[in-house]
Amino acid sequence: MESHQKVLFIDAATAYYRINRFIVGEPFFGPIDLGLHLAGRYRSLNIGTGLLAGSIFPGANRLFFNGFSPCWTGFYVSSMGGAGLVFDNLGVNMISIVNRASVPSILYLNRNRGEEVEVRIEPVRIQKVWQEGRRGIYALMDYTFERFGEYYSNDPRILAVGPASVITDFGAVDSVPISKGKLGFADTWAGRGGFGSKLLQEHGIAAIIYGGTFITEDFRDRKVADQWFIDKYQKKLAAKDLEATTKYRFDPGFQTGGTLGVNFATLAGNMVSFNYRSIFMNEQERLDIHDKFILDHYLKQFNEETIVPKKQKTCGEPCVAVCKKMHGKYKKDYEPYQVMGPLSGIFDQRAAEKLNHHADMYGFDAISVGGVVSWLMECLYEGYLTPKELGVKQIPVFSHKDFNIATDSMHNADIGIALLDSIIEKPNMVNLKEGARKFARQLSKDKGKQILNAFVYNAYARNGWMVPNQYWTPGVLSPMPIMGKYYMYYGKDFLPPRDLGRKNADRFKKELILDNLGMCRFHRGWAEEMIPEILESLYGLKKKFLKTISETASRINGRNSSVFWESDRNIDLIYTFLKRKQTVDGNNDAELAKWIGRFEANKKEAALNFWYEIHKGIHESLKEY
Ligand code: SF4
Repeated sequence: MESHQKVLFIDAATAYYRINRFIVGEPFFGPIDLGLHLAGRYRSLNIGTGLLAGSIFPGANRLFFNGFSPCWTGFYVSSMGGAGLVFDNLGVNMISIVNRASVPSILYLNRNRGEEVEVRIEPVRIQKVWQEGRRGIYALMDYTFERFGEYYSNDPRILAVGPASVITDFGAVDSVPISKGKLGFADTWAGRGGFGSKLLQEHGIAAIIYGGTFITEDFRDRKVADQWFIDKYQKKLAAKDLEATTKYRFDPGFQTGGTLGVNFATLAGNMVSFNYRSIFMNEQERLDIHDKFILDHYLKQFNEETIVPKKQKTCGEPCVAVCKKMHGKYKKDYEPYQVMGPLSGIFDQRAAEKLNHHADMYGFDAISVGGVVSWLMECLYEGYLTPKELGVKQIPVFSHKDFNIATDSMHNADIGIALLDSIIEKPNMVNLKEGARKFARQLSKDKGKQILNAFVYNAYARNGWMVPNQYWTPGVLSPMPIMGKYYMYYGKDFLPPRDLGRKNADRFKKELILDNLGMCRFHRGWAEEMIPEILESLYGLKKKFLKTISETASRINGRNSSVFWESDRNIDLIYTFLKRKQTVDGNNDAELAKWIGRFEANKKEAALNFWYEIHKGIHESLKEY
């Protein structure tokens, strides 16, 4: 097996490049620990795969992005499915980009068998390209493929950014599998963390096209792998993987599949809607919304249009999970179709498709922009801001009472689209260049704190912000060093906050095991346990790998600058969660009752103590010594 990780360093200002080799385990094992080291030293943007890329292990071809995030402002990790498979043909494990091209450019990487990697940095008239054809991020992918595709003997892959990467700090990176010379529609996003903004604003790179025919030495012995799995699970690798990925393919228990299907089928009273205002409703109202708007309509449409006819694809690697649930050109995941769905007062697939596609075309981090849209909709509805102040014409229908599912959802989606247009076209009006938290702070100074109080976000250092994952649970608002992805515990049970902090830390380390080996977390049902064993069998380095994971988690946490909840809505989200556990779920835990009592006596003080208890649990668990 490969005993080195090869990093291609690229200076975007000069196109100068060099390759450095790092011995596996001395001390780095993969894209996260190595990326942390390089980002700390060079402030680089690092894009790379894990050691198992190109192997027979399903889910091993994820492409990881890391560096200091423009929106979170701390070290951050984001990843996209399948894009590591073609990357492996470059014969390097990672590219590390420093400095900035003088004009927006396309980075071209190609490598044929026996040759060096060819590196070119070619200018592109980005604003013009974004206006053409499919517009935005899709137009740039088309353009890049037309201009450079013919130079590849195998299908290459393209990473592209959209206009959101110029105008905000949370632009994403998109890619689609290319098959037989055609771009597909199954978008794969490195959405969180603003790596599109980083790529374009800090490095002057608008797109990267890469591929080649270089053959690397990858583990492909199925007989040996099957024996490892039989020893552990009494099943071969393929059978265990099929079992572990049920939720993402089709779950017979719920007669649906994928994150969108299974989550919306099961959320019931836990679902949040109308910019989290549902947390103030009673349980029956929440259940009514779930029954009438979701089960009988939003989810029903999805099941009929996507699940029943099996409209599903992979991210580009052979994978039985086929988690990309499609309806025509629209790919559907839970979180984007939640934030630019129920959270924004949208309960109809046509309306959600329209808004999601517009956000995707601009190249936004869908979860963050959905959180911003739903927040601004509430500000319009409550009259905190006028339509004129946000460059739109109408006020949303933002209550479940007398809500017409099809027409009111479309009305709200059209306002959402107008808000996105304002962000892109009227940056002096809706200025997100330095993020939504700073924008909220400015609005609140001018017009009152009720504006900031309606915005739910995690805060980091002075300006860092992140719209949380879409679960009504304190885990998603934890003071972890990286928030907005699953580096925390998001289960819906009550845990005393100190225990929650410890559990977050434990979850963080388990997710790092996956990420540092370049694995897709949808395979975590076996991968978390088996990866250390595989490392032992292939390199004899299990103990060292696990020690490195703990150290990496501690080092990332060493920079943890999480800030106590600034918005009242964050605090209400915690309090109503606790109260619901007691009154709806019937949880009689004395610790739970104690916290509810504290919140009812003094909400701010209780919230501060709750936050610090989580913080303590995190810090006591992520000590290096
Ligand atoms: S589960 Fe989905 S994202 Fe993960 S490897 Fe399979 S198809 Fe790709």
